[in-house]
Amino acid sequence: MSVPAQRVSDLSEEELLARIVPRLPRGADTLLGPGDDAAVVAAPDGRFVVTTDVLVEGRHFRRAWSTGADVGWRAATQNLADIAAMGARPTSMVVALVLPDGVAVDWVLDLADGLAQACGPHGVGVVGGDLSGGDDVIVSITAHGDLGGLDPVLRSGARDGHVLAHSGVLGHSAAGLALLRGGATGPRDPAEAAHAVDGAERFVRAFLRPDPPLLDGPTAAAAGASAMMDISDGLLKDADRLARASGVSLDLDGRSLGIDVDTLDAVAQSCGSEAIDWVLTGGEDHGLLATFPPERTLPAGFRRIGTVLMPDGAASVLLDGSPPSVVGSGWDHFRGRGHAGGNE
Ligand SMILES: [Mg+2]
Repeated sequence: MSVPAQRVSDLSEEELLARIVPRLPRGADTLLGPGDDAAVVAAPDGRFVVTTDVLVEGRHFRRAWSTGADVGWRAATQNLADIAAMGARPTSMVVALVLPDGVAVDWVLDLADGLAQACGPHGVGVVGGDLSGGDDVIVSITAHGDLGGLDPVLRSGARDGHVLAHSGVLGHSAAGLALLRGGATGPRDPAEAAHAVDGAERFVRAFLRPDPPLLDGPTAAAAGASAMMDISDGLLKDADRLARASGVSLDLDGRSLGIDVDTLDAVAQSCGSEAIDWVLTGGEDHGLLATFPPERTLPAGFRRIGTVLMPDGAASVLLDGSPPSVVGSGWDHFRGRGHAGGNE
């Protein structure tokens, strides 16, 4: 007779923490880790970069699609991308976890392993957090980083004539989500979605475990990037944010984006979608969008995708000189369109 899986409600908070903490990476900058009222982390250059981001079950992920490790990886990665987008090296994070009573303890330990898989290779410590009961799984992370003596790279530094560049992928997570959502027969499980069409696997993985170029953030800062951000809500939406923060217009180069479109075309056709819409509005790939003065050499990983122009009063983001016409405008938390949940 099989032993029923242990549920979080079978353990006390201390017992659950005693199972989770040994799985978490300590990190290179950690002076005092989990177990006290707070942690202590070194801030080598006297400042620290801090950001926070939350994943909510049903809105950002579904347990039917994402393993605990997938959720841990993704929650950590979207925060590490924000630190990298400032040109900083991530150092540590704290994690607040809300869990319904019925969640299996193994699922939570798997989540801890996902945090470790995302953080460990970057020397990032998971130095503390909090546990609470609740109706849905919620993962709220606050991450910290170090600027290494450099100025932070802001969204507001782009100037007329600068080169617009990108590092990472565009539209891959959106393609993966579309494959998981399936067609007429309804949602697919990840294995089915990964084999729905040739080459689908990498896109399903891109949705479940985005893998942005975190190291390219500090590299861009050292190479003289004038502005930078990660793309979480879609190229158009985030480029609009950078353009407004800098008081400029951005002209995207359709031919440069053509490479991304070609990669996605076969999957888009199988889903009855347009690849260009995923490239322009698909979120959650967390690639880096940056601008560089024209005399600067683009660092490895970055490729030119457009030009910074003086604002022309109309659109802040253009595609080959004209306002882009696409279906959708990117992710918006309160309108719920986009990601794992919501009603498309
Ligand atoms: Mg961001």
